[in-house]
Amino acid sequence: MPAITDRAIVLRLSDYSETSQIATIFTRAHGLVRLIAKGVKRSTSKRVNVGLDLLEGGEIAFVPSKAAAMLGVLTEWRQLTTFSGLRTALSRLYAGLYAAELTSLLNEEYDPHAELFEELEELLRDLDAQQPVEPALASFQLALLGAIGYAPMLEHCIICGHTPRSEPVYFSARAGGVLCRDCEMHQIEKVRMDRRLVGRLAEGRSLTPELSHALRDVLDYQISQILGRRPVVAASLEIALRATGR
Ligand SMILES: [Zn+2]
Repeated sequence: MPAITDRAIVLRLSDYSETSQIATIFTRAHGLVRLIAKGVKRSTSKRVNVGLDLLEGGEIAFVPSKAAAMLGVLTEWRQLTTFSGLRTALSRLYAGLYAAELTSLLNEEYDPHAELFEELEELLRDLDAQQPVEPALASFQLALLGAIGYAPMLEHCIICGHTPRSEPVYFSARAGGVLCRDCEMHQIEKVRMDRRLVGRLAEGRSLTPELSHALRDVLDYQISQILGRRPVVAASLEIALRATGR
């Protein structure tokens, strides 16, 4: 089978053997792929040192898996960008790793989402360029949820359609959006959310740092509900954001 070339971002690396790694890679035209990346093989003349690193962008050539649950094979890696600026603060690094974890958990293999690939690249560029972390991450999370069919309704109540005028306001992952005080009793699974956030989003106004954080809280909650657990990087990200800035 001939190798396929594609644009790619490295999401996850894990050891497979002493000389090989399994790379989880998000590609622009083929979606998520899991590939065996063979390293330097001793005692043969064939030396393929792919030298992959997390959160790098580049071009790959790979031979896709022949069947579901099998691994494809990475045959070439050309690094285009390392997004090195996101490695200057833990909050930026964890934000990138968190986005990578969500992308790998919430996408199916060989299910392409070119627009989501662009969004992930834009997030990594923003983190690299020292843009505020939480607005950039929230924007990516919204794009991811939209791409997998879980875009939350955050501008008005998902049941009655009104913009809530009074507290308390809730968000329900199961309902897929905001619940006003008159409608919240219909849903058991829900969390409180900031009513000002709903108002700002309804008016299409930009968010303050405080409301960007509130938005991230809601999106993290929704994603944890979809996954049935909290993503692994979530706790480290929260600690790093508190310590090194949002
Ligand atoms: Zn309502």
